[in-house]
Amino acid sequence: MLPPFMDPLFYILGKAVFVAALAVLAAALVGAVLIAYSFKTGHFFMARIMLTFVSLLESLIKAIFRTFGADDAIVDEVGVKLRNYINQEKFRKVPREDRAIFMPQCLRSIDCPAKLTPEGLLCINCGKCGIGAAKAYAEGLGYRFFVAPGSGVIKRMIKKYRPGAIVGVGCIMEIKEGVDLCHRYDIPAIGVPLLTSGCISTKLEWDRFYETISDGERSGPAHDDEPAR
Ligand code: SF4
Repeated sequence: MLPPFMDPLFYILGKAVFVAALAVLAAALVGAVLIAYSFKTGHFFMARIMLTFVSLLESLIKAIFRTFGADDAIVDEVGVKLRNYINQEKFRKVPREDRAIFMPQCLRSIDCPAKLTPEGLLCINCGKCGIGAAKAYAEGLGYRFFVAPGSGVIKRMIKKYRPGAIVGVGCIMEIKEGVDLCHRYDIPAIGVPLLTSGCISTKLEWDRFYETISDGERSGPAHDDEPAR
């Protein structure tokens, strides 16, 4: 049996928890509305505040999306776009010679002849996929270019070359984790999501990739979005 003076204390505590839960739910609802708005319009309203919502209340916001029958992957997609949007200014201030690009191996042709080296797969620009031309073009701009078979290579290359900025290509979940990791190391990173996910023969919107690495100049070599495999 609790002493009588504890009753009001529990009452106040209960009320505080209830108010806090309501506040969190309201913040998640606002976050969900802002994310849906950004996804639909491509405009970012209060980008940093939105990113805080996404980072802190991700699970709750996804649950709200599911409750309303919407695809919760939108939350991850907008999260990546927000980070790209916020990072862009800092990214462009880094000289290209000090930047690195990480390509996923799943973008290669299934007949890729590249050999595995300690610095990832060594693309020989055989022409069977778009990576070879991208590598030649990016290296011409000054970038370091890696085709990474896994996150181990990425971490090793970051440790070895200490790039000042990074462009990462991958599926939304990989990019989200990678961009968040770079943020913790204070490296401005831009994520370019694949159009399809999977383990082999994935696709990339190459125009978007070239626009990103050339700082919005929309340049790049002639290419097909779906090269011959
Ligand atoms: S161009 Fe594509 S398929 Fe050819 S070596 Fe490079 S990564 Fe492999």
